[in-house]
Amino acid sequence: MSDMDDLNEWQGRFDRRIMRSIGMPLAKLDHGRGARVWDDAGHEYLDFLAGIAVNSLGHAHPVFVEAVTTQAARLAHVSNYFTTEPALELAERIIRLAGAAEHGRAWFGNSGAEANEAAFKLARLNNSGGARTRVLALVDGFHGRTMGSLALTGKPHMREAFEPLPGGVEHIPATIEALERSLDDAVAALFVEPIQGEAGVVELPDGFLAAARELTHRHGALLIVDEIQTGAGRTGEWFAFQHDGITPDAITVAKGIGGGFPIGGLVTFGRASSLYSKGQHGSTFGGNPLATAVSNAVLGEIERAGLVENAALRGCQIRDRVEGLGNRLVAGTRGRGLLIGIALTEPVATAVAAASMRAGLIVNAANDSTIRMAPPLIIGDAEIDEFADRFGRALDAVAATHH
Ligand SMILES: *Cc1c(COP(=O)(O)O)cnc(C)c1O
Repeated sequence: MSDMDDLNEWQGRFDRRIMRSIGMPLAKLDHGRGARVWDDAGHEYLDFLAGIAVNSLGHAHPVFVEAVTTQAARLAHVSNYFTTEPALELAERIIRLAGAAEHGRAWFGNSGAEANEAAFKLARLNNSGGARTRVLALVDGFHGRTMGSLALTGKPHMREAFEPLPGGVEHIPATIEALERSLDDAVAALFVEPIQGEAGVVELPDGFLAAARELTHRHGALLIVDEIQTGAGRTGEWFAFQHDGITPDAITVAKGIGGGFPIGGLVTFGRASSLYSKGQHGSTFGGNPLATAVSNAVLGEIERAGLVENAALRGCQIRDRVEGLGNRLVAGTRGRGLLIGIALTEPVATAVAAASMRAGLIVNAANDSTIRMAPPLIIGDAEIDEFADRFGRALDAVAATHH
């Protein structure tokens, strides 16, 4: 921001004191309830972004509030020198939900990037005595902003200012031919987002995960699926890889598993569970009883209330409604369950997101011509009707000014 006169009170404070790594926020939010949030001027918004696929149960859900307050009053933090019942229970729960029952293990940290750091180190441990020097990830993939997770991220504009990044990572196109060309016995791991969220909700080609599983298995490489945005029921399965009937070697999780409380984790399957040994990784806050108790409560409520099935059903309904608006700016929809991309016919996504805010709806411009939506898993008929009304008005407003 250059012209201070254009800024209101909070924008001025933000502009002066918050690190310039973050752009000017869209609003200063005050409180939320269910799928709605209110800003400090009292405007109400339907929140179809949910803190970027984080607030699985919406805002201020009684189960979330109860878990935070009860556990905070009991025991919040103990360090890795101790364990607690919530940590053990969360490991068991997430291993069961991921279908890793037999040899599964879990490690917990505090964010998605930290989960991918743990996974990157896991890949380095799969080195076959130094023979595996290559790590593969996908062009346009997003895995986080720390140095290791950024090395995995396939977006040059995010990486360039911070090079050199940890070495050995190669970005390949998301095609089965590229997999066949690139996999060999020097590959330690392949990192994949089952749906590329930050890239604009871009799905993998049909059969990609099955081919990735077959080729990594043949060459002794780990298949590591980044479920940070797609996990916790969002796509209509607990984890998106489950749509493809494969078993990965590891998944990383964060965002929706905490429902708004910071937590991330690495879950390993089979032989990958024996790669780490004592003293090789840790995090002071990782697996603390407060975060793990809240995650247990959130995942328990998703299960109890059938929200994985709800995500599948509501996702189809939303896409039908968007396509049914018949607006010339809508080219089509992408994604699965409640991770939805709306492809636009013109590069007006920023204008559509801004018009949506004015109409009382929070969505996100993932890129110039894609709107991304990741509403809370609790939404029902009333929220979808309201969404269609507000989004329709936003599209009409933009269509009227762009010819
Ligand atoms: C958000 C995201 C991350 C990074 O998570 P942070 O908690 O922001 O560090 C990594 N991978 C994917 C696929 C994500 O969507």
